[in-house]
Amino acid sequence: MSENFIKGLTVQEYHKNYYENNKVRFLANCEFYYLENRELIIERVKKYAGKNKEKINKYRHKYYEKNKKSILKKNKIYTKNHLKECREQKKAYYKKNKEQKKEYDKKYGQLDICKVNRKKYRQSFRGQLFSKKNQAKRRTAKYSITPEKVKRAFEKTNGVCPYCPAEITETSFSLDHIKPVSKGGTNHLNNLIGCCRSCNSRKGNLSLNEFLNNRKVLA
Ligand SMILES: [Zn+2]
Repeated sequence: MSENFIKGLTVQEYHKNYYENNKVRFLANCEFYYLENRELIIERVKKYAGKNKEKINKYRHKYYEKNKKSILKKNKIYTKNHLKECREQKKAYYKKNKEQKKEYDKKYGQLDICKVNRKKYRQSFRGQLFSKKNQAKRRTAKYSITPEKVKRAFEKTNGVCPYCPAEITETSFSLDHIKPVSKGGTNHLNNLIGCCRSCNSRKGNLSLNEFLNNRKVLA
């Protein structure tokens, strides 16, 4: 001990050093003590928690605020590595607390922060992308593609691709949305037509005008 003090350590530093040097022994002792007195300890902790709920909550809140970034990071990593379990847990929890959750969501949705955040999200790139996708989904859901429609879309073509001179047959044609779904086209028969596969893949997400102009440039 005197040697350490000669080195100019404070008492605190000395204790810290001592702990670090004997860490393994200390932890083993702790574990042993815990295993020996497990039930007693759990009871004591429960008693303390019951008496000091507010204090503990405050402490937890403080700790969370202080270590928010690292906690969120850890959680993200954990959920990535335990995707299935997490999903199942979530599902089970939702099933168990369905009505509570609904009420909570309702209340939470009326908070001012929530309204501001929703507005922000809607104006964000991601929000707009998703809402456009949903619009497209809703529109296309109105009409579904039936085998009969596919047949009639082929019959419109008289066996020749409308975009190029290639011949198409009932087994080799592909179905084209004249106005692409991503640009507001529906599954209505007016918007469907058969064409050859290469034209369809080249047309992709382009509108009819864009596609025709593109083809002129290429030709
Ligand atoms: Zn074609």
